[in-house]
Amino acid sequence: MKRPQGLETFLTRIGRTLGNRVSTESEILTAAAGDESGLPDGMPSAVVKPLTVEEVSLVAREAHDLGVPLIARGGGTGKAGAGIPTEGEVVVDLTGMNKILEVRPQDLYAVVQPGVITRDLDRAANEHGLFYPPDPSSWESSTIGGNIATNAGGPRAVKYGVTQRYVWGLQMVLAGGEVIRTGKHSLKGVVGLDLTSLIVGSEGTLGLVTEATMHIIPAPRAVETAWLDFADVHVASKAAEKIFAAGFTPRMMELLDPVAIEVVRPKVAFPIDASAKACMLLESDGDAERAESDLLKMCEIAVEAGALNAIIGRSDKERDNLRRGRRLVSSSLKERYPLKFSDDIAVPRSRIADLLAQTATAAEKTGMRTAAYGHLGDGNLHINFLCESAEQRRSANVVRLELMKRVVSMGGTMSGEHGVGLTKRDELELEQSREVIALQRRIKGVFDPKNIMNPGKVWPLS
Ligand SMILES: Cc1cc2nc3c(=O)[nH]c(=O)nc-3n(C[C@H](O)[C@H](O)[C@H](O)COP(=O)(O)OP(=O)(O)OC[C@H]3O[C@@H](n4cnc5c(N)ncnc54)[C@H](O)[C@@H]3O)c2cc1C
Repeated sequence: MKRPQGLETFLTRIGRTLGNRVSTESEILTAAAGDESGLPDGMPSAVVKPLTVEEVSLVAREAHDLGVPLIARGGGTGKAGAGIPTEGEVVVDLTGMNKILEVRPQDLYAVVQPGVITRDLDRAANEHGLFYPPDPSSWESSTIGGNIATNAGGPRAVKYGVTQRYVWGLQMVLAGGEVIRTGKHSLKGVVGLDLTSLIVGSEGTLGLVTEATMHIIPAPRAVETAWLDFADVHVASKAAEKIFAAGFTPRMMELLDPVAIEVVRPKVAFPIDASAKACMLLESDGDAERAESDLLKMCEIAVEAGALNAIIGRSDKERDNLRRGRRLVSSSLKERYPLKFSDDIAVPRSRIADLLAQTATAAEKTGMRTAAYGHLGDGNLHINFLCESAEQRRSANVVRLELMKRVVSMGGTMSGEHGVGLTKRDELELEQSREVIALQRRIKGVFDPKNIMNPGKVWPLS
């Protein structure tokens, strides 16, 4: 493990205020060493757990003074390696700052600390007949701070958009300890550069988010759910096009390919057609009558487009059973293929079927299978490389690189929601020009002149 120079002095200085919330115990370091990217862990040199913005400011000020690198940590569920220490960084664990400070239903916002669990914000809004739409599948353990830093999406993004749409304002501690506020507590606001949006998705490279004003919106009265089976991904994708062309925006439109179906089939409490090679989880919402009629019409369109059948959830339990079919995919694939890794590309929706076919063919040539599932509605799919050996992992990288090039040539992006972190850092130039990367580096330098905030992430090292 690298030990930053000045570490001992740093720990002594902040220890005077944070006391036993500064730790170098190996068990605590190990717990903060990795994320869910599948990349190897990297040891931090210490973990600090501030509880107030003043304490975060002190940590940043001393770190800046002594040149000690920092890395913010929320739920540790990130999938891009952005939360993995590579330079012996000190982890700033923000999970103790987990209070919902204010909910203002009349003004449609809530003010929260960064360590609030995503689902808890939604629950707090639900108490007022409102909801918080972004729903990363990790929302029982991810934090709002982490969601902001990664600009998280989720199944409902097709209708409601991603985290960025819901961040009205931020409090952030800059390297050096300065505390800034960006944005406002109103829906509209066009004063100055939109620094709030710049910070959203910056993966902890610009500073430490210590408070956020989050937009919450009226909850739909009803949600309806259906599961549809298709002969293949092409038919499912055509059905999706027809649903959107008919003027519907589903609350959720999720896809499972044949391998994803194979791993969840034995676990679900409803029948999946034996010949199904693609499945779709479809939802509508609104008032009760509208939600039901929209779902039925979307199912009709899908059946006309070739769906083999449609199962409609008739109760909360049945709806939850159908959703479970999608929720179980990630963990079931991991159980069967512990060495798997995945990418979360996004392309224009109409290109998905071609992209999946080309990727599966390229992978088969190396003797490896792929699985794809995810957010068909917004063209953002999780493509999994189901490696069964270290050697297959190496050949998977070649296929993966081709996939990235194909995605970019289709007008898509290497990451629809997980971010760049370490996993896509070295391929960034496939998607962005050198000029654009250089501009981002200059912006980073303005926020963080000594490069102590999550160094070595997002932008290629040279
Ligand atoms: C099973 C599973 C399902 C998932 N599903 C989805 C999904 O549907 N959609 C999706 O978008 N993602 C998904 N993810 C990925 C992950 O949950 C998200 O990226 C999430 O936003 C990370 O939040 P976190 O609190 O766990 O952040 P962490 O993993 O702790 O950190 C992620 C990044 O944010 C930075 N960071 C954290 N807190 C702060 C802060 N307060 N200030 C500045 N920087 C900060 C960290 O330094 C790091 O760079 C999934 C992950 C898993 C394991």
